[in-house]
Amino acid sequence: MPCNCEMDAASGCREHNVACEAKLDSLPGELNERRPHRRTYDADETEPVADNEEYIVRYPDGTVRLRNPNIELMDQDILYHLALGSGSHDLVEMFGDVKFVCMGGTPKRMEQFAYTIMAEIGHKLPCGTTLQDISQFSYRYSMYKVGPVLSISHGMGIPSVGILLHEVIKLMYHARVRDPVFFRIGTCGGIGYEGGTVVISEEAVDGALKNVLEVTVLGKSVQRPAKLDRRLARELKGLADPEDPYDTVTGKTMCTYDFYEGQGRLDGAFCDFTEADKMEYLEGIHKAGVVNIEMESLAFAALTHHAGIKAAVVCVTLLDRLKGDQVLAPKEVLDEWQQRPTKLVCRYIKRYLQMKGRLSLDGHGSVAVKSPRRFKLVQQESENYD
Ligand code: URA
Repeated sequence: MPCNCEMDAASGCREHNVACEAKLDSLPGELNERRPHRRTYDADETEPVADNEEYIVRYPDGTVRLRNPNIELMDQDILYHLALGSGSHDLVEMFGDVKFVCMGGTPKRMEQFAYTIMAEIGHKLPCGTTLQDISQFSYRYSMYKVGPVLSISHGMGIPSVGILLHEVIKLMYHARVRDPVFFRIGTCGGIGYEGGTVVISEEAVDGALKNVLEVTVLGKSVQRPAKLDRRLARELKGLADPEDPYDTVTGKTMCTYDFYEGQGRLDGAFCDFTEADKMEYLEGIHKAGVVNIEMESLAFAALTHHAGIKAAVVCVTLLDRLKGDQVLAPKEVLDEWQQRPTKLVCRYIKRYLQMKGRLSLDGHGSVAVKSPRRFKLVQQESENYD
């Protein structure tokens, strides 16, 4: 598909900052073939995909290659659910430095994550400023940016995370982000694991144990492998601290389209199976290597894999489904448990930035306190003025 952007052959395509082979090699029949780049991830970071796999992913500079020739022909691309657009926003300026995209269910949790990662990596906001929800006018998802980290809420279930991923993957492309790494941090039901256990997914399977996301496109079923980056999962596991007062395990994650019947719960509004049926199912999937059940990993794994983006899913169990259906732990306990996947992902990001010499634990901060006593006095003095 030809690229319609303004360019000259020497400098390449202005829009995409790469040599635009569509024009450089302008043989009509071959316009689609932009000399695919078959390395999946940064050579220094990950293992390549299987040799026999037909996998065309990145441009040579590591930027995300869209598997959709239509986008570069469009005058502008409106990322509707993010309240951003390639014609209205300078996406390279705003997001070009992103390295990590962290996603989780709720806006509140992802705002908290943004503040946590800000403290962990020593990212300082200019004095008097605060984090802002970049997508607030979408009224759908929330997005915060902390230096090289994006923190985005994905809502609940496969359709919600799927729509978001389409737009975030396009955002990576428009912003020319190089070799991004995506994380989902979330909650799940454990299979044979007590509440509070951290689970790193090795792969995602559907309710029938199939390792694919099935989407219906133009009335036909399309199957996308739901693969996650094994090496990234191993690296995350390696960051679990033996001193952590909880277990961190790896295994298969089952992803369902529903919290109740879909996950074999007896306590939904409807239930046409017995407790014995439920236990037979859960014990069967346990034997097949499933360690947890949640509702987003299938789309997360399949769409990131299809885009050639390195990704991992880290969840905390809220209960052991072999022992019950209802989430009974008190709120404060659940809040503490939900910090656990965050901690692991923070360790990974921090270690990466440290290795790259990009961890800035000094510099200008929002409020830098030299003397807490004088600080308090000044605050009190100021409050006294009408
Ligand atoms: N999320 C799920 O999808 N299932 C559970 O059991 C708990 C959290």
